[in-house]
Order: sequence, then C-alpha cells, then structure tokens
Amino acid sequence: MDFKDYIRVIPDFPQPGVLFKDITTLLKDAKAYRAAIDTLKDQVSAMDIDLIAGPEARGFVVGAPLALSLGKGFIPIRKSGKLPGETVEASYDLEYGKDRLSIHKDSIQPGQKILIADDLLATGGTIATTINLIQQLGGQIVGAAFLIELSYLNGREKLPGIEVVSLMTY
Ligand code: IMP
Repeated sequence: MDFKDYIRVIPDFPQPGVLFKDITTLLKDAKAYRAAIDTLKDQVSAMDIDLIAGPEARGFVVGAPLALSLGKGFIPIRKSGKLPGETVEASYDLEYGKDRLSIHKDSIQPGQKILIADDLLATGGTIATTINLIQQLGGQIVGAAFLIELSYLNGREKLPGIEVVSLMTY
C-alpha cells in the first residue's frame, strides 16, 4: 500500500508557504489506518519495549493503537495543566512563542524502555521535549515511530542515537 495516497496535502496551512500533511484522510480509511499501524508494528518488532508514549493530540492516534497491537501500555504526554496527578514539565519553542508539555511523575519507573510515537516528525522540537520528560523520569528511549517524516527539516538531528522509523518521507 502506498500510504501517501491517503495523505491530503493542504497548502498555506496553518500559515502561508506551509504544505500541511493532513493525516485525517488516512485515519478515516479503516484499511489504510490498520495497515499503517501494522506496518509500524513490524518496523519496531526488533525493539525491546516496555511502554509507548505519545504527545497530544495526534501522538495518541498513532501511539495508542500501536501500544494495543504490541500488547503494551500507553503513556499520554499532555499540554501543561491537563494531567490530574503530579507531573514533570518541560517548555519548548514554537515558531511563534512557547509551549509546555507534561507527563505524570509516576508513569515511568527508572530504566523502563520507552518507544515514542507521533504522527509527524518536522523540526523535532516536540519529540525532543517528549524525550526530555521521559529522561527526567529515568526512562530509556529505545526508538521513535512516526507516520510521516519531513526530512528537509532535519528533525532526526535532534534524536541522536535513537532509532527512528517512519512510514512516509517527504
Ligand atoms: P516538530 O516539533 O517541528 O517536529 O513538529 C511536529 C509536530 O507538529 C507534530 O506533533 C505534528 O502533529 C505537528 N505538525 C507539524 N507539521 C505538520 C504537518 O504538516 N501535518 C501534521 N502535523 C504537523
């Protein structure tokens, strides 16, 4: 299956000059969504994984089904102020301004092996912050899985030593 057939590219969203990769067209196709998760599962099958973690919101639509199909648990990483328990947090720069992600303090035990999942790797800022949070808790990152990688933004450079898998590259 050519997964790119299921991605809709929308010009000038969220701002002029950006070619936004819309995954909602893949998600609504039951066969394509299933095949995407199954293929990611195959690509990470050699990794020794305890838990999957993903940042809101689109990290959930990749990470949660991947976790279920691997028989692992899922850890949601959320915007600051959304998680009810005790958290650790980290800020990161967006193109305009800053954002803050948080994770439950007791969600990872030191030494647990974590696979990170998200829909898309762009500059790598979101995933670098996700890694920072997991490492603050003593988690060990074993890999990162994406539907899409925008290789021209060099996000992989922010993930040195981490095995990165993606279904589609632009
Ligand atoms: P990064 O932090 O620059 O790597 O951006 C990755 C985050 O931005 C991901 O969580 C994506 O959901 C979102 N993102 C950036 N560009 C796109 C796009 O073209 N399509 C869908 N999501 C995008």
